[in-house]
Amino acid sequence: MIEVLEQSDSRIAIRFTGYPIQYVNALRRIAMVEVPIMAIDDVVIYENSSVMHDEILAHRLGLIPLSTPLHRFVRQEECECGSPLGCPKCRVLLYIDVKAEERSRTVLSADMVSEDDSVKPISESIPIVTLATGQSVRLEAYARLGTGKIHAKWQPTTVAVVKEVDGIKDDYILELESVGSLPARDILLEAINILEKKIMSIGEGIGRLREYADAKPNIG
Ligand SMILES: [Zn+2]
Repeated sequence: MIEVLEQSDSRIAIRFTGYPIQYVNALRRIAMVEVPIMAIDDVVIYENSSVMHDEILAHRLGLIPLSTPLHRFVRQEECECGSPLGCPKCRVLLYIDVKAEERSRTVLSADMVSEDDSVKPISESIPIVTLATGQSVRLEAYARLGTGKIHAKWQPTTVAVVKEVDGIKDDYILELESVGSLPARDILLEAINILEKKIMSIGEGIGRLREYADAKPNIG
């Protein structure tokens, strides 16, 4: 039996009764490291007179959670454009152009302007860098789909745990919390899709193995 115990955009908890832990844990791991989300991956800095080094600035941008419309984009390595810079199907350009004119000011995630309204910072108040009077930052940042397998900045979950229900055999609760790029429910559904594809591909492989064994009965 599978029961949804709790559900909101940021969190989902599901109870699995009568399923071995391996299946529940497979879903947990896939949710964490195989469900793709958008994150900034390349930054072209035209101007940075702040005290922050370019590399640190680029690293900070990579960690800002971006809203991700599922299935609207493809992974760059799977895109037909084959271009290292990407195309509108596999990347989104965001830019920052801020100068502290009269007084110092902090550049916030709200200062990131996205060419695609569906891919933008999930919060407007994430501080990026503070500029003293006269300093400025001007850059282009490219967001791409990726997974937590490649880098933690592409992990869609903050929490992904399996808890055992006291003393009952094969009774577990899977809890997922979203960083905000995707609703928690969508992370789970996408993890289910990925797991299903894996199971189908194993099924096909086993089917071929059986055909092979049937054709050559003396093997082994
Ligand atoms: Zn492309």
